[in-house]
Amino acid sequence: MTAATGTGTWAERAAALDAADPLAPLRARFLPAPGVVAYLDGNSLGRPVASTATRLEEFVREAWGTRLIRGWTEDGPDGPWMGWPERVGDRIAATALGAGPGQTVLADSTTVVLYKLARAAVDAAAAADPARSVIVACAEDFPTDRYVVEGIAAERGGSVRWIETSLAGGVTPEQVRNTTGPDTALVLLSHISYRSGWLADAPAIVAAAHDAGAYVLLDLCHSAGSVELALDAWRVDLAAGCTYKFLNGGPGSPAFGFVRRDLQTVLRQPIQGWMGRHDPFTMGPGYLPAGGIRHVVSGTPPILAAVPLLAALDLLEDAGIAAVRAKSVALTGFALELVDAWLAPHGVDVLSPREGHHRGGHLTIRRPGFRAVVDALWARGVLPDYREPDAIRIGPAPLSSSFTEVHDGLAVLRDLLDGVGVQKR
Ligand SMILES: *Cc1c(COP(=O)(O)O)cnc(C)c1O
Repeated sequence: MTAATGTGTWAERAAALDAADPLAPLRARFLPAPGVVAYLDGNSLGRPVASTATRLEEFVREAWGTRLIRGWTEDGPDGPWMGWPERVGDRIAATALGAGPGQTVLADSTTVVLYKLARAAVDAAAAADPARSVIVACAEDFPTDRYVVEGIAAERGGSVRWIETSLAGGVTPEQVRNTTGPDTALVLLSHISYRSGWLADAPAIVAAAHDAGAYVLLDLCHSAGSVELALDAWRVDLAAGCTYKFLNGGPGSPAFGFVRRDLQTVLRQPIQGWMGRHDPFTMGPGYLPAGGIRHVVSGTPPILAAVPLLAALDLLEDAGIAAVRAKSVALTGFALELVDAWLAPHGVDVLSPREGHHRGGHLTIRRPGFRAVVDALWARGVLPDYREPDAIRIGPAPLSSSFTEVHDGLAVLRDLLDGVGVQKR
C-alpha cells in the first residue's frame, strides 16, 4: 500500500468516525496544545479543561485570597475546604466509580492510599484469623503496587504470592481462585493492566477472593474516567486510584480511596492523623477515628491541587461514563486497525487484548528499538509513551481526542518506520 492511498482511505474513515462521535463537541472545552499533532498519552496525564485556568486563578484571588483561613470552615462556592475530601470523593464515586456516597475520599497520592488501605485490610484479616498473612498480587503490576505489598509483607511478617501473566494479558478470576485460600489476607490487583491494557473481570475476581475469605483492593488508576465501574454492585471492598490520568485532574493531583461502607468500622488505616480524628479541633489526647470514610484522611487535604479536578468532573458528568467508554473502545479499536494495516508489516506486535470488552483505555504495541522511535515521535509532536520492554502505549482520551488525531499520530509512526525519520537519527 502506498502511503498516499492508505492515508486517504483511512483519513476519510477517521473523519467519518469524528462526524458521528457524540462526544466530539466536548473537545473544544480543552485547552489547545499548539504544535501537538496527536496527544496519545491520556492514560498517563490527562489534558486540562480550559476552564481550569480561570478556576485556579479565581480560587487564588477569591477563595484563598479573600476568605483566607475562614475558607476551611465557612461555606463557599464548593463548600468548606474541610469537607472537600468527602465532597469531591462523592462526586468521583457518582461520576466514575459506580459507588454510593460516604465511601470515597480524595487524599494523598495513589501509592500512599494503596499503602493505607492494604495495611488496614492485612491487619484486619490477621486480627480475625492469624493464619491469614498472605497478600496475593500480580508480578506484572505497576511497580508501586508491587513495592507497597512487599513493604507491608516485610513490616507485618507476611508474604506475597505472585500471579504471573503474559505481557499482553492480565489476571483472570481462575488465577485468583488458584492463588487464594485460608492463608490469604488480601488480593491487590489493578483493574486495568498499565502495561497491556487488559481489563480484568472485576466482579468475578472479587467473588473469587471473597470465597477464599480475603479482602480485595482494586487499583483503579487506569479505570477511573475510562471504563464503567460498579464498585457497589461488584461488592468491592477497597479501591484506590489517581485523578491525573483519565480524570484530567492535573500533574500530581490527589488520589482517591474507597472503603465499602460496612467495612468502615472494621478496618483501621495506619496513618493516624489529626484530620481523620473525631473532632480534630479539640486537639485532644489520643486518636479517636472520625466516623465513616473520613478516618482515611490523615493530614491537611490538598485543596489547591484539587481545584482542576472540579472542572474536569463537570465535563465528565456532562459526557457520562457510558459514552466515554463507548468512544474509548472505538478509539483503541481504530488504532488497532491502523496498527494491523500500517505497522504489522514492519514487525510491530500488539501487546493488548484484541477484543474491545477485554481492553481498557490504551493499546500497547511493541517492536525492538521503540525507545528511540518514541523520541522521534515526541520531536514531531506525536505524544504516546514508552514502557519497558520495547513498548509504546497509545492512550487516546475519549473526552479530548479525535479519531483523526489517532490517525495522524499513527501515520507519523508509520512514516518513521518506513525509514523517513529513523534514518535521520
Ligand atoms: C499511575 C499509576 C499509579 C500511580 O501512583 P502514584 O502514587 O499516583 O504515583 C499507581 N498504580 C497504577 C496501576 C498506575 O497506573
